[in-house]
Amino acid sequence: MEGIKMVDLHGQYLKIKHEVDEAIQGVIDSTAFIKGSDVRDFQDELSSYMGVSHTVACGNGTDALQVAMMALELQPGDEVITTPFTFIATVEVIKLLGLKPVFVDVEPNTFNLDPDLLEEAVTERTRAIVPVHLFGQCANMEAIMAFAGKHGIYVIEDNAQALGAEYTFADGSVQRAGTIGHMGTTSFFPSKNLGAFGDGGALFTNDESFGQRLASLVNHGMKQRYYYSYVGVNSRLDTLQAAILRVKLKHLDSYHLARQKAAAWYDQALSGISGLQVPTRSPFTTHIFHQYTLQLDPSKRDLLKDWLAERKVPSMIYYPVPLHLQDAYMDLGYKKGDLPVSEELSRRVLSLPIHTEMEEEQLKYITTQVQSFFKS
Ligand SMILES: *Cc1c(COP(=O)(O)O)cnc(C)c1O
Repeated sequence: MEGIKMVDLHGQYLKIKHEVDEAIQGVIDSTAFIKGSDVRDFQDELSSYMGVSHTVACGNGTDALQVAMMALELQPGDEVITTPFTFIATVEVIKLLGLKPVFVDVEPNTFNLDPDLLEEAVTERTRAIVPVHLFGQCANMEAIMAFAGKHGIYVIEDNAQALGAEYTFADGSVQRAGTIGHMGTTSFFPSKNLGAFGDGGALFTNDESFGQRLASLVNHGMKQRYYYSYVGVNSRLDTLQAAILRVKLKHLDSYHLARQKAAAWYDQALSGISGLQVPTRSPFTTHIFHQYTLQLDPSKRDLLKDWLAERKVPSMIYYPVPLHLQDAYMDLGYKKGDLPVSEELSRRVLSLPIHTEMEEEQLKYITTQVQSFFKS
């Protein structure tokens, strides 16, 4: 059996080595390292995969969030509602732009924004909501969009962890995560479901004027060469990364299937264990398992992590401290107890290895170790 890793990027590469190497060599031969044709082609191909009219590639998922927020032209002190149970980037960019993050707690079973708590967080300065589709499944977008519509506020979906997940509305229509709000963002960080060989990100919108503004903002706010309409940033996707991502996009659906298969194996082996909660699937979304995250009693969580580590099974805590309790954000004025679900989850969660190359033997070994912990 191969050594177990949280993510196996090398194994994944070997299966498409020929295609990837050829794509990389093509870019080197062209020397069009910035704004080469692969960038445009990748944007077009990703637009058609997503079913969205505008895709703007950029440097990384954090920049994508920042640029989306910049496109809204908010004023210092304007409030942006988001979740404290996410990666720091979501909140960092709100703060960097002089806006005020307002945290709303998550649902205990899905880890996603709890739409029932939005109403009490809204003020006359609320301008946007940033739901995060955490661990591979969508937040309750129908409820979030209805709420945003009622209050006239924007929705930016942080889709760094659910690129390709599908949301089904009550009327039966289906849309990809990241294309439902006014704008969506994603990341091609190597370990994401669609990972580059370095940094990368993208923005999505179906709004023509946002689409143009985003494309301009990532390129210094330029309109035509050396004429600037906005204060922008330099955030580009390298041609090399775009060429690699074009290859990998063709495999994305099969990558999702491989993750879902591993998740089904875990579910089957672990769902009967008392004291252990396997991931809950929301009825309105597919789950593409960016992470496979268990919940268990806080008194046992770290013991299980150590038990697994001793048996050469890696595991990770996403996320150990909710963002409202991070040192850098104490000036927002939150304290322990303000967002109890997120705080409790940070003590209960443990993510098991999940990636596209998991072998049955590995899954069997991992689940046997988890089972033996609960029997010991
Ligand atoms: C990875 C991630 C980001 C940031 O993406 P980078 O490409 O690393 O900048 C933002 N939000 C979430 C939820 C993420 O998981």
